[in-house]
Amino acid sequence: MSKEKYWKLLDDFEDLLTYQHRVPHEGLPKKVLDGTITAEIHEAPIDQNRKDRLAILEEQISQCTACGLHSGRTNPVPGYGVLNPKVMVIGEGPGAEEDKSGLPFVGRAGKYLDKWLSAINLERSKDCFIGNIIKCRPPGNRDPLPEESSICLPYLEQQVDLIRPKVILTLGRIAAQILTGHVEGIGRLRGKTYSYRGVPLIPTYHPSGVLRNPQYRGAVWEDLKRLQKALDEA
Ligand code: SF4
Repeated sequence: MSKEKYWKLLDDFEDLLTYQHRVPHEGLPKKVLDGTITAEIHEAPIDQNRKDRLAILEEQISQCTACGLHSGRTNPVPGYGVLNPKVMVIGEGPGAEEDKSGLPFVGRAGKYLDKWLSAINLERSKDCFIGNIIKCRPPGNRDPLPEESSICLPYLEQQVDLIRPKVILTLGRIAAQILTGHVEGIGRLRGKTYSYRGVPLIPTYHPSGVLRNPQYRGAVWEDLKRLQKALDEA
């Protein structure tokens, strides 16, 4: 057997395991499970590549009405980036600019995030996938309600499984609490490495918070060095 065939076989097998593990997911919102769009995922051939499956997932998100946030959105923001990224960056939810463009972290906080990434030689366009816990903007930029987060979370779980990042960087309290399962504030959660779906997870402050509170910059730099070390070890 050629080397290419061998790797393809291994990749298909891994996809099969991931696929069976992922669907059906009892945490999926009932409205999503009942919908015809989910049926596409169930019926997708197991050798369909991850990029196609990610596109199907994005299509599901674009049509999702599983929680009340769909009624106020201009665009859902499923996330954007490369497959097999070095880092998957996960924030809380889209803000006004993201809602307008359908893209994650495009405002002032996004530009600041790009600076953080470039400080450890990472580029958004080739090393990262950037997304959020919830895909639709909460009104007035309020925190997502716990039920909204839990209804939307299965999308992120599937994204992590399909995208297969080396390391996850969460931004802000809400993303850190939801993905680590801990209830402390971000000041206590950061400074450690956790694991989410088998991927090392490093929490740090949200760029918007650091823009408002420059005294957190030192802690962010420590977290970025932790991230760099985790990448070296991955
Ligand atoms: S926030 Fe998530 S669950 Fe709610 S409508 Fe948007 S995509 Fe669906």
